[in-house]
Amino acid sequence: MPYQSDQESLRAYPRLTVNLAKLKSNISSIVRTCADAGIDVAGVVKGFNGLAPALGVYEEAGAAQIASSRLEHLRNVKEAGLAPETLLVRIAMLSEVPAVIRYADMSLESEPVVVEALEEEAARQGVSHGVILMADLGDLREGFWDKDEMVAFAARIEKEMPHIELLGIGTNLGCYGAICPDVPKMEELISIAERIEARIGRPLRYISGGATTSYPLVLNKEMPARINHLRIGEGILNNYDLPNLWGLDTAPLYADVFTLEAEVIEVKNKPTHPVGRIFVDCFGDTPVYEDRGIRRRALLGMGKLDYTLIDKLYPRTEGIELVGDSSDHMIIDVEDCKEDIRVGDVLTFDLAYPSVLYLSQDDYINIQYTDAV
Ligand SMILES: *Cc1c(COP(=O)(O)O)cnc(C)c1O
Repeated sequence: MPYQSDQESLRAYPRLTVNLAKLKSNISSIVRTCADAGIDVAGVVKGFNGLAPALGVYEEAGAAQIASSRLEHLRNVKEAGLAPETLLVRIAMLSEVPAVIRYADMSLESEPVVVEALEEEAARQGVSHGVILMADLGDLREGFWDKDEMVAFAARIEKEMPHIELLGIGTNLGCYGAICPDVPKMEELISIAERIEARIGRPLRYISGGATTSYPLVLNKEMPARINHLRIGEGILNNYDLPNLWGLDTAPLYADVFTLEAEVIEVKNKPTHPVGRIFVDCFGDTPVYEDRGIRRRALLGMGKLDYTLIDKLYPRTEGIELVGDSSDHMIIDVEDCKEDIRVGDVLTFDLAYPSVLYLSQDDYINIQYTDAV
């Protein structure tokens, strides 16, 4: 990027580009694979802060719901007039109950006092609200631990809460406890659902078997037939864990829905070991530095404030090593790079889930959208 006196921009870079065509292709692919197994997909948009221009793609690609942990994203779905149902995936706060009823068609819940408040507010607003009760199967985040209490509460919703529609039950695995969703866990969930169905005398609409980490069971054709709902965020946005950690063939899924570009602001030969008495760095830590002699180093105009975790960024240019960073600078080693890196060059990065999460909520980032495949 040469200097141009006729262009004044406060933020050309860092630039985050969202490829809507690849996003849509990923959603369609997962929706189709799940549909073959009788499973509805809630597309979870919290991983990119529900960026409004990308929400419509979820409707076009056939997601049954657009889901998020943040009500702002669901409000944007409603204000854009999109047709999929909205699902709040973070169990509701008592303080947000009126907004939950207004913006979420359904929510995951685990606390009777909250569902009682939802019933009261839904009655006040003259609407019906869907609830999926969560069972904690050992991951130890949200959900009923006592399953007798869960079955009894489900029966109470059915009998005593005319404005709450008991849509089904669900579980979440692989978040806090790193518990792997497997067939026994899914069967445990189904057996709780069947106890509830026996109590209320009707089938539940949904048995929601989890998030991206439950998708491998669908790909491997092992998912028990009664699981008919998944809530998928990461698998759509960042096709990294499934092929790399799970060793799955996810061939049609794009890994580069998101691209980050950053500008080079300094290039010099410098020592690799700091010179002087080592005290603490800008975040109060005392790192250990390896002395590799004089090497070619460059600085990029972006930092921790933008992406938080340097080890979740992957440079697309070969031979570039990410050395360190502060709030607004990244130091890279370009000694082994075949390309001649110069001030004003723009380097591109692939991103993992945490980087997209942070970058997409950063006011300093130039966010762009493309349809090019
Ligand atoms: C975030 C979240 C999801 C989506 O998780 P991914 O790993 O991004 O697929 C699903 N369900 C709940 C309850 C969540 O909090």
